[in-house]
Amino acid sequence: MTSNRSRPRRKFRRLFKRNVYKEAVMALYIVADECISCGDCEPVCPTNSITEGKIVFEIDKKTCTECEGDFDKPQCVRVCPVDNCILPLPA
Ligand code: SF4
Ligand code: SF4
Repeated sequence: MTSNRSRPRRKFRRLFKRNVYKEAVMALYIVADECISCGDCEPVCPTNSITEGKIVFEIDKKTCTECEGDFDKPQCVRVCPVDNCILPLPA
C-alpha cells in the first residue's frame, strides 16, 4: 500500500530529475548536537560528501544526492548509530 506521505516526495524527485527545481537542494545534514563523531558515515557515502568538520562530521549539501541513483536508502542514515542524527535539509 502506498502511503500519502511518500507521494509529494516522489513528485518532487520526478520534477527534480527533469530539472524543474534547479534551485532546490536535495540533501541531508548532520545534527551537530546529536553526532558523536564516530565516523561510520564517512566511508559509506557514494558521493564523498561527508567530511570531519571542526566540531562534528558534516555533509556537503552541494554534492549530497540522498544516495538517489546509488542506493534505495541514504547510506549515512543506515549506518549512523544515533537516531535522528542525520535529517533532510529544511527547504
Ligand atoms: S545521503 Fe547518501 S550521498 Fe548524501 S551524505 Fe548520506 S551517504 Fe552521502
Ligand atoms: S555516523 Fe552519525 S554519529 Fe557517526 S559521525 Fe556520522 S553522523 Fe555522526
